[in-house]
Amino acid sequence: MSATVVDFRRVRKLYSVNGAPLEAVRDFTLTIREGEFVALVGGSGCGKSTLLRLLAGLDRQSEGDILIDGQPVDGVGGGRGIVFQEHRLFPWLTVERNVGLGLVNEGLGKAERAARVAEFIRLVGLAGFEKALPHQLSGGMAQRVAIARGLVASPRILMLDEPFGALDALTRQLMQDELLRIRRERSITTLMVTHDVEEALVLSDRVVVMAPRPGTIRSIVKVDLPRPRDRGDQAFHGMRRGILAQLTEPALTKPAVSSAA
Ligand code: ADP
Ligand code: MG
Repeated sequence: MSATVVDFRRVRKLYSVNGAPLEAVRDFTLTIREGEFVALVGGSGCGKSTLLRLLAGLDRQSEGDILIDGQPVDGVGGGRGIVFQEHRLFPWLTVERNVGLGLVNEGLGKAERAARVAEFIRLVGLAGFEKALPHQLSGGMAQRVAIARGLVASPRILMLDEPFGALDALTRQLMQDELLRIRRERSITTLMVTHDVEEALVLSDRVVVMAPRPGTIRSIVKVDLPRPRDRGDQAFHGMRRGILAQLTEPALTKPAVSSAA
């Protein structure tokens, strides 16, 4: 059994909305092992992005602990790569300089920096586009740059928040295959947020099904289908139906401690 990389322990997050508390996440407990790919699925407002922000150290939980390699998360820092739905590239910087931003805190020499940037641009299939500017790229290519930037510092955990949500269906499927290929080359521990159940089933080892108001875990589904996953397979469809049914069931939990919700 491989080591635990990420450990969420009874995490709760309250926001304040017009002075009233809004419980975004309640009692969230999950461990992610080295090399594992875990997907969080759920409709909007389930607390998925909140959980990624907490793990990224962009915000702090109200209760509970979040550990990476046994160390409590304390603000933003190394060891975590994050990719959002929008690529968030700097429009005036070339592909290689955008990817290089992922290394600003690494203290590398110029040559090593350049080598790392080139390596990850190749890994995401963009060799030859080093000098291109973001507006010269398609949506899928821009997301590849964002993935390279997320991976270039060799993080312990890669976080993806709806990374293909803005792409057309065909590009989206292509990018899912690309992500699988990248993960065969680098078996990086990954936590992905998606509302697309099929995407979660194609990519992940486990699917965490979330329920809203407050964001809680409804169930954790182990995807023990052989890889590569066959989207046309009957077992695949069975799992997809099962998860969709859970997502569309009325909430079992009580409303949040809020009148604002
Ligand atoms: P998801 O990513 O699953 O759609 P979020 O984590 O973005 O869900 O949001 C969970 C809940 O917390 C929602 O009700 C949302 O409105 C609320 N929320 C998120 N961020 C903030 C914030 N900064 N301040 C107040 N409420 C927030
Ligand atoms: Mg979100």
